[in-house]
Amino acid sequence: MRLPHHPQALAALRAPSAREPLRLLVSGCLAGRPCGVNGSDYGLGAPLATLLALPAVSVAAFCPEEQALGTPRTMPDIHGGDGHDVLDGRARVLDEHGRDLTERMIAGAKAMLEVALAHRAELALLTDMSAACGSQVVSAGCRLVAERRFTPSVGVATALLLRNGIPVLSQRDHRSLDRLRALLDPEHQPDAALRDYHETEWYLATFAPRAPGA
Ligand code: SF4
Repeated sequence: MRLPHHPQALAALRAPSAREPLRLLVSGCLAGRPCGVNGSDYGLGAPLATLLALPAVSVAAFCPEEQALGTPRTMPDIHGGDGHDVLDGRARVLDEHGRDLTERMIAGAKAMLEVALAHRAELALLTDMSAACGSQVVSAGCRLVAERRFTPSVGVATALLLRNGIPVLSQRDHRSLDRLRALLDPEHQPDAALRDYHETEWYLATFAPRAPGA
């Protein structure tokens, strides 16, 4: 299940409250932790700070790469497939120097799943494009090249969460995030003009021959 392509997963969420908040698993960098490869949060924490601070949400933040590789670290990317392929032994995770990080990335994914299960996470909000947390798109091979390529799929930790029944949302899924905010804050008015990542011009132009449902 991949939430942007399965909107019923968002519709199926219960109505949370301050007494019974929505249990949300969040990528560490989205929660403002300086756990990125360069020791920053990539500037991702600030835009989501008000959402994650709402009383009707309970956040468990975790970085699978920091757990597995430390911070700062080299840049992991998936070669030969997506996160599911890595879990199934059909693809590898290499850094920009060609070092094989596959087993440590799988260990980081398992650690993230443990955090999710301990928190009884009902939903995960994960950082797109990451080899671990990628939630709509991941790099096809090393991203530190002149012509970066992309795969319309998920990272290693995301794949493991999905396999364990936890729906996933990307920070780029603005329509779904807006609906989530309305669920958490009854005074919020949803914006019908917002789009999820797979509905954007860039996504449709990049993956047109392979777009879901095509
Ligand atoms: S592994 Fe996930 S949580 Fe950690 S920096 Fe990358 S995207 Fe953020």
